[in-house]
Amino acid sequence: MSKYHVNKKGYYGPFGGAYIPEMLYPNVEELQQKYMEIMQEESFQQEFQELLKDYVGRPSPLYLAKRLSARYGANIFLKREDLNHTGAHKINNTIGQILLAERLGKKRIIAETGAGQHGVATATVCALKGLECVVYMGEIDIQRQAPNVARMKMMGATVVAAQSGSKTLKDATNEALRDWINNPIDTHYIIGSVVGPHPYPDLVARFQSIISEETKRQLTEKTGNSLPDYVLACVGGGSNAAGMFYHFLEDEQVKLIAVEAAGHGIKSGESAATTALGKEGVLHGSRSILMQTEDGQVTEPYSISAGLDYPGIGPQHAWLYKSGRGKYVSITDDEAMQAGLLLTKLEGIIPAIESSHALAYLEKMTFQGNENVVICLSGRGDKDLDNYMKYFGF
Ligand SMILES: *Cc1c(COP(=O)(O)O)cnc(C)c1O
Repeated sequence: MSKYHVNKKGYYGPFGGAYIPEMLYPNVEELQQKYMEIMQEESFQQEFQELLKDYVGRPSPLYLAKRLSARYGANIFLKREDLNHTGAHKINNTIGQILLAERLGKKRIIAETGAGQHGVATATVCALKGLECVVYMGEIDIQRQAPNVARMKMMGATVVAAQSGSKTLKDATNEALRDWINNPIDTHYIIGSVVGPHPYPDLVARFQSIISEETKRQLTEKTGNSLPDYVLACVGGGSNAAGMFYHFLEDEQVKLIAVEAAGHGIKSGESAATTALGKEGVLHGSRSILMQTEDGQVTEPYSISAGLDYPGIGPQHAWLYKSGRGKYVSITDDEAMQAGLLLTKLEGIIPAIESSHALAYLEKMTFQGNENVVICLSGRGDKDLDNYMKYFGF
């Protein structure tokens, strides 16, 4: 593997590793020792590919957005993860992890969720496989995200309210970890992004790498060249971006652009622009870049988009940023909302507000002639209609 992938010790440059309480060693070591072998089994690959095709609806189209292209003066292709079952890229990862859990002999699945998108994707695959599912969610988030809570319950999941701290994602994560410590034998913890202790960042990136694998093939069909000039994706923890970048990492001529959420502005005190504001440190089990105070307390992040409202980025992203392989930028709430409206008007596609952040960066780019640009449209905007309505006053 190249210098941009995880090494044998679980690191990307200085980032990554497994910084976990001793009580979690057995669980994490089991995964470290077995994940590659299981993922390479023929029966695993066969079932994974079949479910991606017939259940998720892959390959997702690579769509040349003509009116958007005309506006910006480049060929803009949208990788349509919004058309996946459950409406986003997250299902690629939960399908992969449920198959992994089965082969590890696990009977019970736990997950943490903020806005509920990862909780829904996890409850979905547990229903598909008939496995017990417990989703930890902050009490405040449960109140804010009633439709997703209803979806999870309808699919048979138990939603447990995290009552400590700020009663949001970070507290739900703590509860999930406590559960895993108490149930090391029969339980698998499905993490929803390229974060957490090694091997999670690598295994989630591998499951999401189907995005760039398909894109290369589709671009070749459409343009005769598998390599675009630019690849863009939004970054919360970084899983859709990791999947969108994966098979382009070694093609150094392809410019990779990761778009973070600047919220009300980088200097407003209300943002989630991790690389602009963060410092190196340990968050959720790995060494990375995170937003923190002088004395190392994690800063409360803010973004209008629930999926980008995270104070860190995965360790691979920290390394792509630090090594200069990727360019990390940020977009405010207002810029993202306008970009979401623009795509809707020009192409008849309502994007998730997360994805709108990647689209908004087109406004800041200048193109020379016929350049090819791929943007990961990570999810659809149905879940965000309330937000769009409030913002634009429809
Ligand atoms: C969760 C989510 C994100 C952010 O998560 P990443 O791990 O950074 O991809 C982005 N877009 C959508 C639609 C999401 O649901």
